Amino acid sequence: MAVRFTVSRCPVDLDVQESSGVPWGATVVPFAAVDEHGRAPEHGGSAQLLPRCDTCWAYINYVCDVDKWAWTCALCGNLNGFSDDTSARYRSSQAPELLSSFIDFEMDEELPNPEDEDFEARPVFVAAVDLSASEEFLELVKSSLLAALEAIGPGSLFGLVTFSHKIGLYDVQGPIPVVKHIMIPADMDGRIPVDLEMAMPLSSFLAPVESNKEHIAAALETLKPTSSWERATAAGQGIEGVTMGGRGFGVAMDALIKYLGTEHGVTFAMARVFAFLSGPPDYGAGQLDTRRYGEQYASKRIDADKALLPEQTPFYKDLAANAAESGVCVDLFVITNEYTDLASLKYLSIESGGSLILYSNTDEATLPQDLYRMLSRPYAFGCVLRIRTSPEFKSARGYGHYFPDPQYENVQHIICCDQYATYAFDFEFSNSNGFTRNQDSPPVVQLAFQYSILVPHNDDARPLTTSRNHHNNSAVSSRQGYTLKRRLRIRTLQIGVAANYAELYESVEPEVILTVLTHKIIQASLEDGVKEARALLHDWLVILTAQYNEYNKLAQFGQPDNSNRVDATFSKCQPLQALPRHVFALLRSSLLRSHEEGVHPDHRIYLQCLFSALEPSYLLRAVYPVLSSYETPDKQAYPRHSLSRAALITSGSPIFFLDAFTSLIVYYAPTADPSLPFPPPQNCALRGMINKLKQERNITPKLLMIRGGYDNAEPFERYLIEEQDVDGSGVAIGMGFVSFLDQIAHDVVKFMK
Ligand SMILES: [Zn+2]
Repeated sequence: MAVRFTVSRCPVDLDVQESSGVPWGATVVPFAAVDEHGRAPEHGGSAQLLPRCDTCWAYINYVCDVDKWAWTCALCGNLNGFSDDTSARYRSSQAPELLSSFIDFEMDEELPNPEDEDFEARPVFVAAVDLSASEEFLELVKSSLLAALEAIGPGSLFGLVTFSHKIGLYDVQGPIPVVKHIMIPADMDGRIPVDLEMAMPLSSFLAPVESNKEHIAAALETLKPTSSWERATAAGQGIEGVTMGGRGFGVAMDALIKYLGTEHGVTFAMARVFAFLSGPPDYGAGQLDTRRYGEQYASKRIDADKALLPEQTPFYKDLAANAAESGVCVDLFVITNEYTDLASLKYLSIESGGSLILYSNTDEATLPQDLYRMLSRPYAFGCVLRIRTSPEFKSARGYGHYFPDPQYENVQHIICCDQYATYAFDFEFSNSNGFTRNQDSPPVVQLAFQYSILVPHNDDARPLTTSRNHHNNSAVSSRQGYTLKRRLRIRTLQIGVAANYAELYESVEPEVILTVLTHKIIQASLEDGVKEARALLHDWLVILTAQYNEYNKLAQFGQPDNSNRVDATFSKCQPLQALPRHVFALLRSSLLRSHEEGVHPDHRIYLQCLFSALEPSYLLRAVYPVLSSYETPDKQAYPRHSLSRAALITSGSPIFFLDAFTSLIVYYAPTADPSLPFPPPQNCALRGMINKLKQERNITPKLLMIRGGYDNAEPFERYLIEEQDVDGSGVAIGMGFVSFLDQIAHDVVKFMK
């Protein structure tokens, strides 16, 4: 579990927190195998023996004072007595929970054993495939699922369901697949006539993976797009002459979630649905009206970004609630360049703990790699994340892909997560005194993360790992399945307090601030539109700059003329210096560029979902890509350049490499020596770097190779943002970031007046 704070020392009180201009919060990667310093957790035995505070329910930890008969809670200061058993434990041994801030405990819950014939204890994977699709789409989905089957561990169950104007349920437990079809009613609130369980019992639908791989492959081979006449007949005339795709996705997912769950909760230890969608749901309940994309917003004086970002129906949000309650996680893979209204659909994936991935065409889609790697990674499921703090402050708001507990504050349910999934919190003071009253006991944050995991039988200590290789079936069959374990992971952090502004500014972590800001502006753009979110971010930087100048007595509030004195580059405080550039890049990113600049609303939603689960260093790469240069494919010249044309030219390097998280670009300058091999050869240092980055990422980045002077260089040049105008208006006059800083300084002067 990696935890990082926006400021490594807390603000001392409400006044400092509010007037410093620095956001106060943290990012948490609960299932990361190591902490933020790269250290693995200690193993703490059974969680049942772990004493908890009578007052605040925090777990005993390394910051607590422990006596013979009692311990003092480091969070709330309560004195708690030990029972006889626990007293003996804490007297005789150095318990790991008193030594380490990061510990995993076993929860000795009665868990069903997947080894037994117990059907419901097994992990379940269901592929839901759109048949109102093209041949190319289905070919891509088939090859991805064949790859995925190799990554699904033995002991798992697999089901195949299709949807169009009807639902197709497959029984793949024999050489010839049996399909049962259920028609979907065309009307907006229609329900299917029978429950799926009536059409096909779950035990026929869900097939043990290891004994049915060939049958599943054979069933996949039979998938064909529904013919256009078949769709037209089902859809009737369509609405006002609009051709309908006959894609009854909403009804199919609703029925599937009910099928896999029960009326009152979880059936399976873990159920994961991979839904493959080739366009907007346009048939039956849950259909989305895509005509809103074609509206003439500009002529109606409506902010298109504001109009297209909220959901048009609560259907998929409600469905996500059902999925979360049933312990079903939905991963949504959307492969289309059509407007699909991800703004409405996204909830189904992100609130059920799944991913939302958008590919704009089948040719460039890295779906097979992404799906295979998603399944090969260790993942935790049925998770509960709880944050506790010292009473002087509290977590005010959580961000990320979780489902909030309907009853308890600061309790978040995560149906499924991997080691990358990142969540963020905002802190606020409980009262204006802050930490001034109780200076002997520094602030403490404790995170408790309960989760289930599949542990291979022959290796109890290690979770389900990636060591299996796609082409090596023997390795798969040598493992005889997995045991289900429930664990409790505890992380306790004691934080220092910054006595004054200088200490607070010096303790700033720019990447983490960028992450918390990104969450806030995504929230703001969903609620008030992109223009408002841009204004919010701009104002935030103005306020921070003003406070910094006031504190350093460079420019001061209420003074008539500050104009020559404002320092918008934070020249006296190194940690703050990165922030103006980050804000500028965020304003230039697809999250905040306007509809008029050609940002597709679905792409924006996709990026919002992607960015709001990224760990700070990855998010920074996505917002402000890393540009390095090479003398030859084997020899790096400079590890870092600013994203400017000028920097490229003055460096004189022939080869540049850009890492923008979702894309990797190799760019040969037009002046590069023609004897340099292009593309870079397979075994060179640059290729090594590319392969390493591809391996360690949760989604496979797209790789582009561009030769300046021969190929279209636009895909590379658009990342050189520093000469671009911040609002994309007019022709860039080469002032970009420089004039942005001038503007900030100007606004600071105005603000301070
Ligand atoms: Zn306590």
